[in-house]
Amino acid sequence: MKILVINTGSSSIKYELFDMGRSAVLASGIVERIGEKSGNLTHSKTLADGTSLKRTESVSIPDHRAGLKRIVALLLNSETGVIRKRSEIAAVGHRVVHGGEDFHSTSVIDEKVMEALRQNVRLAPLHNPANITGIEISRDIFPEAVQVAVFDTAFHQTIPMKAFLYAIPIELYENEKIRKYGFHGTSHAYVAEKAALFLGVALEELNLITIHLGNGASMAALRNGKCVDTSMGMTPLGGLVMGTRSGDVDPALPFFLADNLGMSLKDIDKLLNEKSGLKGLCGTNDMREVIEKRNSGDERAQIALELYCYRVKKYIGAYFAVLGGLDSLVFTAGIGENSPEVRRLCCEGLSGLGIQIDPERNNRSADEIRDISVPESPVRVLVIPTDEEFKIAQETLKALQSR
Ligand code: AMP
Repeated sequence: MKILVINTGSSSIKYELFDMGRSAVLASGIVERIGEKSGNLTHSKTLADGTSLKRTESVSIPDHRAGLKRIVALLLNSETGVIRKRSEIAAVGHRVVHGGEDFHSTSVIDEKVMEALRQNVRLAPLHNPANITGIEISRDIFPEAVQVAVFDTAFHQTIPMKAFLYAIPIELYENEKIRKYGFHGTSHAYVAEKAALFLGVALEELNLITIHLGNGASMAALRNGKCVDTSMGMTPLGGLVMGTRSGDVDPALPFFLADNLGMSLKDIDKLLNEKSGLKGLCGTNDMREVIEKRNSGDERAQIALELYCYRVKKYIGAYFAVLGGLDSLVFTAGIGENSPEVRRLCCEGLSGLGIQIDPERNNRSADEIRDISVPESPVRVLVIPTDEEFKIAQETLKALQSR
């Protein structure tokens, strides 16, 4: 069965087409700079020998509809294509950033779901409108396919009230649904399942801390396989230091910036979301460059790296206390999977918690799941490559089969 996964952003569409029978990627790509003068398209088709055929195009893509139509044309094309007709695609799985409290799991999309998605736009005004557009267009272009929504927030819906409420007037939760939601749920869920398989223990019997360190970054604490706390909040701005986002700051900071520097709400939003994090501290949001700069003596890069890892370490301590016992710590995403230096600094000095990394295992690079802890470490420290698109495809298949 073929499932298309679509991640629609405000000016981009990322896609991946899976053959679920073989757990294989048939084609993938991204359309970028939608609505700008010149857009970019990168398409990749998996060939029989496992290599890929790549096609890049610089074309004007006026809107998302034109973008998805171009993707379909490439999927059908005799050279770049992998299907003969659109109806071969049984389902389309859509990444949806915010499901609010309405969605605890993946949902087959119908009119009721669309209405709930629209209601949740106020919680994610930057992301959900694009997700909704993607769904609407996909319904037109693939009328025979089942459309499924997979939410970044759903995995965190098991978090108890004491962990998700903010200590502000309770009516703001009751009437406006202002609370912590958490994000990257698909990634946290995927690596947790992989960790259980790797350790040979049922997920329901494991206490885990999952650490997603990509351009965005978040952590989750899982008791008996269920999420009980996470570092992002009502929006993806809270928690860890990220590529361009500040993570936790004093909530009074915006008032100070407005009163003393005359900044508008829009300026402050931009400052905290786009000009902060690693970029704000040392001028780049790419961890490889941060480490290079640090290695050549750049003091700002040194402190950026220290602060980044210190924040992760603080959350490890907090989640250890929340869980009361830990089986495994899991690193994932671009930085978590590829930077031994970040993993080392995050776990340094934690042997008191049973967390001890083996330097040689940590430095070995690989694309597969690996255990980087010393054999006697009570907590297994794992590196697990995430695959959010495949997880969305799996969830879509499950939703399709349980209809
Ligand atoms: P993601 O959002 O998961 O694609 O991750 C993007 C981040 O991964 C960027 O900050 C990259 O700099 C970082 N990254 C990728 N490869 C490496 C590496 N070898 N060392 C450190 N950071 C890396």
